[in-house]
Amino acid sequence: MGGLGTALAFAKKGFKQIDVYETASNLGFVGAGIQMPPNVVRVLDRLGCWKEIEADSTDIKGTSIRRRFTLNPTTATTPDPYSRNINTN
Ligand SMILES: Cc1cc2nc3c(=O)[nH]c(=O)nc-3n(C[C@H](O)[C@H](O)[C@H](O)COP(=O)(O)OP(=O)(O)OC[C@H]3O[C@@H](n4cnc5c(N)ncnc54)[C@H](O)[C@@H]3O)c2cc1C
Repeated sequence: MGGLGTALAFAKKGFKQIDVYETASNLGFVGAGIQMPPNVVRVLDRLGCWKEIEADSTDIKGTSIRRRFTLNPTTATTPDPYSRNINTN
C-alpha cells in the first residue's frame, strides 16, 4: 500500500518515471476481506482510484469485536456514520 500509494501520489504530481521495487516474488490472493475505514477511503479518493474499488465493495452497517470462544462482543456494535463521508476537502 505504501509503495503504490506513494507512486500514485508522485504520478498525480506529474512525475513520469516512477519505479516501485518489491522483494516478494509472489503476491498471491489470500482470501481475506479488507476493511476500508473512512480515512483510507479519503486517501484513495484523492488518488483517483476509489470509484473502481467502491464498485466491488460491500457497505457494512456496523462492526463489533467478539471474544474467541463465546462470540460475546467486547464492545457494542456500532454503526459507522462516516462510511459514506469521503469529503476530500
Ligand atoms: C492479517 C492482517 C489483516 C489486516 N487487515 C487490514 C484491513 O482490513 N484494513 C486495513 O486498512 N489494514 C489492514 N491491515 C494492515 C495493513 O495490511 C497494513 O497497514 C498495510 O499493509 C501496511 O502497508 P505498507 O505498505 O506500509 O507495508 P506492507 O504492506 O507490509 O508492504 C511492504 C512491502 O515491501 C516489501 N519489501 C520489504 N522489504 C523490501 C526490500 N528490501 N525491497 C523491496 N521490497 C521490500 C514487502 O515484501 C511488502 O510487500 C491488516 C494487516 C494484517 C497483518
